[in-house]
Amino acid sequence: MPLPKAELHLHIEGTLEPETAFALAARNGVRLPYADAEQLRSAYAFEDLQSFLNLYYELTAVLRTEQDFEDLANAYLARAAAQGVRHAEIFFDPQAHLSRGVDMGTVVEGLWRALGRSERNHGVSTQLIMCFLRDEPVERALETLDAAKPHLDRIVGVGLDSAEAGNPPAAFREVYEAAAALGLRRVAHAGEEGPPQYITEALDVLGVERIDHGLRCLEDPALVERLVRERVPLTVCPLSNVRLRAVDTLADHPLPAMLEAGLLCTVNSDDPAYFGGYAGDNYHAVRDALGLTEEQMRELARNSFLASFLEHDEERRARCLAEVEAYRFS
Ligand SMILES: [Zn+2]
Repeated sequence: MPLPKAELHLHIEGTLEPETAFALAARNGVRLPYADAEQLRSAYAFEDLQSFLNLYYELTAVLRTEQDFEDLANAYLARAAAQGVRHAEIFFDPQAHLSRGVDMGTVVEGLWRALGRSERNHGVSTQLIMCFLRDEPVERALETLDAAKPHLDRIVGVGLDSAEAGNPPAAFREVYEAAAALGLRRVAHAGEEGPPQYITEALDVLGVERIDHGLRCLEDPALVERLVRERVPLTVCPLSNVRLRAVDTLADHPLPAMLEAGLLCTVNSDDPAYFGGYAGDNYHAVRDALGLTEEQMRELARNSFLASFLEHDEERRARCLAEVEAYRFS
């Protein structure tokens, strides 16, 4: 039995496996510029975040109908459940769909057809976090928030993703203020490729409660001290960091140093179809490559539930935490 865990950094579009991409392309009459799933998989060798994003956006072309989004989410939830995920806070990128004529209702209601039944069908509770693309103007983000208003009963919070370098968080102040006024939770990617100041900006200007990635906080001891003191969760994605060259190899990953510093780290899969593994695969990989102890593995799982937005269901959080404490490693 796998270690129970929550997944807090997962882009649903990043769960599109090559075989599914081809199946959806055939269903929707979309032509992909690859001969087959095997050739597509071999394109999954990235130089950096941007080279990954180019392919990621290209493949979203196969997602067109509610059924497509439902099937995508169900495939993820089945895999996640098999790897011990008990709760998932799932990112989606509406701008990647709105810009090619797929409307907000198709995306959100399609995903919800899977998410709304997930606890019953997969034993995984879920929440949906809508991300804004930081490499597009804030006006697009404001329009996106506006388009989401009829669907806010499905959405727990907002996030900020896509190409980080040169796109500081502060530019999105207005849309984060509007999201806060609507009662939405706030997170943002920061300190993956961008400098430590982006983490500080995300906290102080956008008012985020969690930092996605956050690795580069280690370059600023005062920031580390603050993150520890304020118990700000970091959603670390180890296999993603290797594939996008944030670290050279998994053995070089700073996760042990981050735990030792007292940071509230969690382990997540980011875009698992592209980066070589789902949540449980990431846990196994860090344990093997970094020699984490059972207590450190338990700490990561405990942190994932502590950092989750389960305030509406403290009973479930307590139950999951008790399972983590009782877990016996084999
Ligand atoms: Zn991400």
